[in-house]
Formats: sequence, C-alpha cells, structure tokens
Amino acid sequence: MFFFFAGGLEQQVRQVVKSGVGRCMNCTSTVDLVQYDKVLKLFFVPVWRWPGKDTLLYCDNCKLMFPQSHSLPPPPPPPTTAFSDSLRCRFCDRTVEADFKFCPFCGSDL
Ligand SMILES: [Zn+2]
Ligand SMILES: [Zn+2]
Repeated sequence: MFFFFAGGLEQQVRQVVKSGVGRCMNCTSTVDLVQYDKVLKLFFVPVWRWPGKDTLLYCDNCKLMFPQSHSLPPPPPPPTTAFSDSLRCRFCDRTVEADFKFCPFCGSDL
C-alpha cells in the first residue's frame, strides 16, 4: 500500500517576545523567545490552528524551535574597558595609558 499521510503538526512563530535570549543548541546563533501557534496541516493546507501553551526559543538561522531548557547561555556581553588599563596623572589629572612612563600632557614622571 503506497500511501503517505501528507499531513502533520507544525509550529509557527506567532510573536517574538524577546530577542537574543540565548543561543541555538544546533548552530549556536542567537535565538529569540517566541510565542507560537500549533498548526495542523492536511495535504499541506492548514486546517486547524491553536496557540501553544508555553514560549519556545526559535532560531532564525536553522529554523529550529526548542524549549528554553535546551538553550545555551546567551553570548557573553562585550568586554567593558577595564579601568586598570589607564591611570591618571598625579599632576594634571588627565587619563593616561597605563604603560606610559611619562604623562604625554605635562611630561611628568608617572
Ligand atoms: Zn540554529
Ligand atoms: Zn600630566
């Protein structure tokens, strides 16, 4: 019997709740927290649609939807400029690179 059931259940993004909340467990690109609809399709035609209960994470890169518990932690924030990398001249009170021996503004010995 050569019959294929040409229907199925699909999940479609309804609304992005928050973007960039984590990373894809598949391709590690940034994922969005979304609310989704479940769509029942029969012969590729949506016949029934109802809202999903929970929010899911959605990867726009590989079109993967998965629960939040499977996500990798969000990408680390960009490193902030450390204050220890610069110092202040005692004499003219200007910020100077930490590896300078002399203040470029007033020529004082640091
Ligand atoms: Zn992905
Ligand atoms: Zn100075």
